[in-house]
Amino acid sequence: MDPKHVKPASAAAQALGWVDEKTRAIAPVIHTATTYLRDEDNQYRSGRIYARADNPAFDQAEALLAHLELGAQAALFSSGMAAATAVFQALAPGDHVVAPKVMYWALRNWLLGFASQWGLKVELVDMADLAAIRHAMQPGRTKLVWIETPANPTWVITDIAAAAEIAHQAGARLAVDSTTASPVLTQPLALGADLVMHSATKYLNGHSDVVAGALVTARDDEVWQRIKKVRAQLGGVPGSLDAWLLLRGMRTLFVRVPAACRGAQRIAEHFTGHPRIEAVLYPGLPTAAGHAVAARQMRGGFGGMLSLRIKGGETAAIATAARVQLWQRATSLGSVESLIEHRASIEGTGSPAPADMLRLSTGIEDAGDLIADLEQALAV
Ligand SMILES: *Cc1c(COP(=O)(O)O)cnc(C)c1O
Repeated sequence: MDPKHVKPASAAAQALGWVDEKTRAIAPVIHTATTYLRDEDNQYRSGRIYARADNPAFDQAEALLAHLELGAQAALFSSGMAAATAVFQALAPGDHVVAPKVMYWALRNWLLGFASQWGLKVELVDMADLAAIRHAMQPGRTKLVWIETPANPTWVITDIAAAAEIAHQAGARLAVDSTTASPVLTQPLALGADLVMHSATKYLNGHSDVVAGALVTARDDEVWQRIKKVRAQLGGVPGSLDAWLLLRGMRTLFVRVPAACRGAQRIAEHFTGHPRIEAVLYPGLPTAAGHAVAARQMRGGFGGMLSLRIKGGETAAIATAARVQLWQRATSLGSVESLIEHRASIEGTGSPAPADMLRLSTGIEDAGDLIADLEQALAV
């Protein structure tokens, strides 16, 4: 059976069924070479020259991710930030880009700082409001609409298909930071997006031990070639061992993500209406503003990420995080262990994170244990 024609969970588990031709090994060889032999007649027929541009250690993770995202090609990067910034660096100074008000904070800061100084015209809009996206478009000048859904750290939902239509009508492309959804829950390219970005540090790797990023394109076109050139020139590529670990992590993606979704849903429902909780932010709750859109474009769950607003404000929130025993008090997300953090402390000034909010990344532990730990941390 061709592993490309089985369900995505099967394709991931077998990493597309790849076997090393020389040794018959069913786990990939770790290629560490930085340079490749030139042919005697001065050609490079292998297509490999130097590992800043390209590395066989990336091939399988890229092929599997492109397959899971229904894309033409994928490219690994040294981090999610390296992947995301390559997309913007493939544009030209003077180009207008539309990005979310609520999005991954380090990328927002880069867009408002470095990218704006470099000449990009960056406009931040409320991406839950389709009229606001439409209003921001400048046909001919707007080259890219960047969205993130569910969006850090309040899990606002953007309608991917509608955003794609608005972008395309104005002659712009749509890129989706799909880090928190993962290809298990959402396939943005099938909904009309042109590019998908992942912080592979999060769900794709899933074990808090690799920093990596990835892009997937719907088409191998001129923009994609510019992005690949940015990667080759700036060298934002992962090391071979990290690429190998990433593929190993991706093989269990379809077990980890549904488990995290089930836990997050239970936690969100449990703490809804809790006397010490001001609000539960989770798109899986029927009361969430983006629930209907999320139900349409996410399948099999609403993600492992949720946020709790704690009664008593910032002091009570930080004190609650201080009392957890099973949850790990750390930033980042998408790993097998559950993480909790006071988000406003990390993001600093200009953050849309409410001061009373704790961001929770649900891992794959027993959900009852996770709830009990939060209950004891909330009981004062
Ligand atoms: C972590 C994260 C990033 C940045 O990725 P790094 O791998 O840390 O560079 C971008 N977007 C989202 C949604 C993230 O969670």
